[in-house]
Amino acid sequence: MNENRENIFRGEPPVLFDNKENCCGCSACYAVCPARAIVMEADEEGFLYPEIIEEKCIRCARCLSVCAFKADQRAKGFLHTPA
Ligand code: SF4
Ligand code: SF4
Repeated sequence: MNENRENIFRGEPPVLFDNKENCCGCSACYAVCPARAIVMEADEEGFLYPEIIEEKCIRCARCLSVCAFKADQRAKGFLHTPA
């Protein structure tokens, strides 16, 4: 059971990324979220990254399954953190 499965099992929202190297800001998670619980926020350089609004999140995990960027990184052995 990885970290995010445990989060959802405990009733907590998932973690979309733990550092910016694990997110390209593609907004696929934002687009797929059925509860509109994800907003794309600009960092200090103007690049957009997703943030989950915890109160709106229904813990469906669709945002995790749609994230092709992490799947690609994992397949190439670049990502060693659970997603
Ligand atoms: S789908 Fe993945 S790579 Fe794309 S914005 Fe969401 S967390 Fe980042
Ligand atoms: S777990 Fe579901 S409701 Fe929560 S942010 Fe992800 S897609 Fe949206």
